[in-house]
Amino acid sequence: MTSGDEGRQEGVFMNNHNVTAEFPNLPPRLAGLADLAENLWWSWHPAARMLFKMINRQAWKASIHNPDKMLKEIPREVLQAAADNPDYMRSYDLVMYRYHKYMIKKGCSLLPESCIPAQLTIAYFSAEYGLHRSLPFYAGGLGFLAGDFLKECSDLNVPMIAVGFMYPGGYVNQRISEAGWQESVSLELDRNQAAIAKVLDGQGKQLIVKVPIIEPPIYVAVWRVDVGRVPLYLLDTDIDNNDPWNRGISSRLYTGDLEQRLRQEIVLGIGGMEVLEALHVKHSVVHLNEGHAAFALLERLRDRFVLGFTREDAFETVRKTTVFTTHTPVPAGHDVFPFPLMEKYFRDFWPLLQMDRDSFFKLGLHPDEPNRGFNMTAFALRLSGYRNGVSRKHGEVANKMWQGLWSEADEADHGIDYVTNGVHVPTWIEPKFELLFNKYLGTDWLEDHDNPYLWKMVDEIPDDELWKTHLWLKIKLFNVIRERARQRWTNDRSHPSMALACGTLLDPSVLTIGFARRFATYKRADLIFHDEERLRKLLGDQSQPLQIVFAGKAHPADDPGKLILQKIFNAARNPDFFGRIAFVEDYGEQVAQYLVHGVDVWLNTPVFPLEACGTSGMKASLNGVPHCSIPDGWWLEAFNGVNGWSFDGGDTGGSRDQIDAESLYRVLEEKIVPLYYRVDENGVPSAWVQTMKNAIKSTAAQFSARRMVREYVDKFYSKAALFTSEVL
Ligand SMILES: *Cc1c(COP(=O)(O)O)cnc(C)c1O
Repeated sequence: MTSGDEGRQEGVFMNNHNVTAEFPNLPPRLAGLADLAENLWWSWHPAARMLFKMINRQAWKASIHNPDKMLKEIPREVLQAAADNPDYMRSYDLVMYRYHKYMIKKGCSLLPESCIPAQLTIAYFSAEYGLHRSLPFYAGGLGFLAGDFLKECSDLNVPMIAVGFMYPGGYVNQRISEAGWQESVSLELDRNQAAIAKVLDGQGKQLIVKVPIIEPPIYVAVWRVDVGRVPLYLLDTDIDNNDPWNRGISSRLYTGDLEQRLRQEIVLGIGGMEVLEALHVKHSVVHLNEGHAAFALLERLRDRFVLGFTREDAFETVRKTTVFTTHTPVPAGHDVFPFPLMEKYFRDFWPLLQMDRDSFFKLGLHPDEPNRGFNMTAFALRLSGYRNGVSRKHGEVANKMWQGLWSEADEADHGIDYVTNGVHVPTWIEPKFELLFNKYLGTDWLEDHDNPYLWKMVDEIPDDELWKTHLWLKIKLFNVIRERARQRWTNDRSHPSMALACGTLLDPSVLTIGFARRFATYKRADLIFHDEERLRKLLGDQSQPLQIVFAGKAHPADDPGKLILQKIFNAARNPDFFGRIAFVEDYGEQVAQYLVHGVDVWLNTPVFPLEACGTSGMKASLNGVPHCSIPDGWWLEAFNGVNGWSFDGGDTGGSRDQIDAESLYRVLEEKIVPLYYRVDENGVPSAWVQTMKNAIKSTAAQFSARRMVREYVDKFYSKAALFTSEVL
């Protein structure tokens, strides 16, 4: 077993798989496919994806783009046929060459002063990771942010290891009932048919770690996912050593049961630190992606007390080497655990920090609600020297929200900084667009994609070429939607109106709005239904109609969210809306990929200022799908008057929903619809295409994960790592 930085130093980051045992059908000449299948690097390199697809399109599709599963299930003859095909082998050798070149790349792609030596690795903790459709360890934006973060750290060679949960029950797969109600279907993850490897101990058995101090004991088994050069360690409590209650700790993301939720966070934070210890992974800085893993800080403190630090030094060194990112102003996003529950699990812990009950609980006290319990965000903010929100506006909002905390701190240590989120460009760029950019921006554009000067060349792309590429993707999206509707109809013998609601009537010549994200109520998926008559006019216009594609999941415990979903689904089935509304089931990474590339406009309607950042609009804009949104989150930084649309009603009186809906209708009626349908003699809407170009130009560099990771390194990591290196 190699630890994160040994592997990096040796340049050997390959899995030590037993290829013949795990992939018995793989001919020796294709052995490299096993390595490739076990490292998610393949997922953000289209040529590598093609390598799997070329073996057999049907099998690739049936595996839901999971190469591990496909290579284990496909017959030997099919693989042998690929090995005997010179064209295939040419592609194979090229991809394998690129993969190895990537994996052994040394050095750092940042400015010299920002480079962090490998022995000062950053340990990143997150409760969810959105990496690929085959690994269901995410609920929404927070997970994709974490997944994109790891991929970009790998690309930039920022030394990082990550810790998270293996959720064998995944999140939920969504099915809409004939009553329009969201139901959950659980699909157990097959750990043996995914890009997840057991981490082994000295005896060759799976590494199992006991969560320290906490009684009765909880054990976790450790798995590993390779995200390019970044290893992600996943904790799994579903093992024989645990009783059933403990086994269930990691079964599902964000369980509603408060005590089980607390136990999850104990496992992630305290267990996660113990796993790093057991792996002998040296790290200098801990980055907490949201408060779920903040108990890691208790374990960091305890380590220092064990080493004989004074209380002051223990707190000081933990603070100076901890980065904490808060992700939402919505209260439900901040866990608060009642004191008696905390006492049950931590009464053996606080003496080890030379604290009593009161001083321990004060670490998690929210000044505005001191009696509610232990607030994980307040706790993380107090113990982190580097704190940030995820957009400029969110930084302001978070500062206000937590200002009560700063009165107790030193003058010099006030406040919450911000780093605006970004998306991993190689993951979210559509391959057709990648080719288009290769042609007009130069073949090394992807290497240099956070350079804003590069994107000026987007104006060189001929309008009709950009437009044709977009239409091709729109048709592809509609084909995918229709195929899913067909499956649903034939498999379930559901009522035909279900198939219509799922999008069979979508028309590629009609202006198409996309809205897809979690159905949290503050996101107001149904805002556009506020005045149904006015909406119907837009949808049903004879010459310039509009259609809307919705997708998204409500949290399984969120009935108000499910009611919004039901309202939209029923509208999709109701002929009064002309078949111009569609709801696509089971929103996840795969559906997101098609939607953000294939609709004409990406809509966001949150209640200001609750959208801390938002990232799906960045994915759309990057692919020439302009954003239309309430000015909130990232859009406040990105909107420049010509790259999409921003709407809010200002102070015109009336309820907020009414005002916002009113201004949404106005921007649709007066700006978006006329612009879209204004076409030249060749059928190209040139002014619209210019908006598409402006969307790409203004977002591709600035809202990339590359820009984001560089900022984290410059603002936080390099300083925190420097502190460690001085102390060492
Ligand atoms: C990007 C993404 C999100 C985040 O969307 P927001 O715009 O932040 O609401 C959620 N789910 C999926 C599947 C995504 O790809």
